[in-house]
Order: sequence, then C-alpha cells, then structure tokens
Amino acid sequence: MIEELKRRNQAWVDGKTSGDPHYFDRLVEQQNPEYLWIGCADSRVPANEIVGMEPGELFVHRNVANLASPQDLNYLAVLQYSVEVLKVRHILVVGHYGCGGVRAALEYPDHGLVDNWIAPIRTLSEEHQAELAALPNEVARHNRLVELNVRRQAKQVAETPIVIKARAANSGWPHIHAWCYSLATGLVTDLDAPIPAPTPKRRRKAKFLGVFG
Ligand SMILES: [Zn+2]
Repeated sequence: MIEELKRRNQAWVDGKTSGDPHYFDRLVEQQNPEYLWIGCADSRVPANEIVGMEPGELFVHRNVANLASPQDLNYLAVLQYSVEVLKVRHILVVGHYGCGGVRAALEYPDHGLVDNWIAPIRTLSEEHQAELAALPNEVARHNRLVELNVRRQAKQVAETPIVIKARAANSGWPHIHAWCYSLATGLVTDLDAPIPAPTPKRRRKAKFLGVFG
C-alpha cells in the first residue's frame, strides 16, 4: 500500500513537471496564498481540490469539525502567520453537511477524547435547543447544527485580536466567509454575507481576552 503511494507521488511530480519543468522551483521560492481555509479534517473534504487551487494558493488548517477555539494555539498560530505574514485577503471557515464531529455532539458523550474537543459544539446545540428540537428529524437537526457551528467559528475568527488589528490596518480585510460543503453534490454554499467586524463593545472584550493582540 505504501509503495503505491510513492508510485503515485512520482506520477504526480511527473505530471506537474512534464509541461512546466520549473514548477517546483517556483514553489520553493515562495508561497503567496490569498486565502486561509479553516475546515474539517474529514477525508472527503479536500480543501485545494474543492476550490480548484494549486499548491501555494491556499493556506490550510483542518481539525475535527472545523473549530476555531480561542484557546487553540495550533489554530491561532496558523491564523496569525497567514494574516500577518502571508497577508491573506480572505478567510474561509468551511463546515460540511454529514460532519461526524457535529453528529457526535448531538449524541450521548461516549466517543473518547474527541468528546472534549467537540464540547463547544455541544454547548452550541444547547444554546439553540428550541430551534433544533422544532426540526422534523435528526438529519435536519444535524444539518442545522453544522450551519450554526460554521457561523459560530467564523464569528470567533472575526473576534480574535489578530483579525481585528489586521482589519483596522487594512481597510476591512481579511474578509471572513462561512461556507458549508455538501458531500452529496460537491458544492459549497455561502451561508451569508461576509462576517462583519465585532461591535466596539465586543472589540473591547476581545482586546481584554487576547494574549496575541
Ligand atoms: Zn467533519
């Protein structure tokens, strides 16, 4: 199996360089992505492929259920580097319908360590308990929670001192988008307009909480 992966790697290199001998030389020189993708680790949601982007065009951070928790140093480091050094223009927070991490948050907690990771989604579902309970079935509740989670994570990205500072300095960018990907169709849905900067009240709160601002 592993030998097969190596064979495919060689075939990929051959494909890239057959019509463009300097393809990798250019990539070594620099990366210049316009976009940061924060998405789920699910193997069915390959970031670059979904939006048709080549290596160097998309900075990617993935974890279970596309969380952007203010306590997660891994995500914060990616965010800071992409915003302050790479100066990405757009941040895409991408959830997907059928997300196992979100489904687990709707079930009884017996999934092991991942239950700790998805605790914020469980809290989110409790916040929207009435809305979710009014939906006709489990699939509808699951899909709605996927959307609520994407919006919440995008809002949290917008509230980081990193993004607040960058937007103030750059006339509003990076722009933040909440997307949902459909495993069934391969299409993404833009859930709403770009996520706005927090209000002055929230900005003060974010500054108070921020250790990276
Ligand atoms: Zn997922």
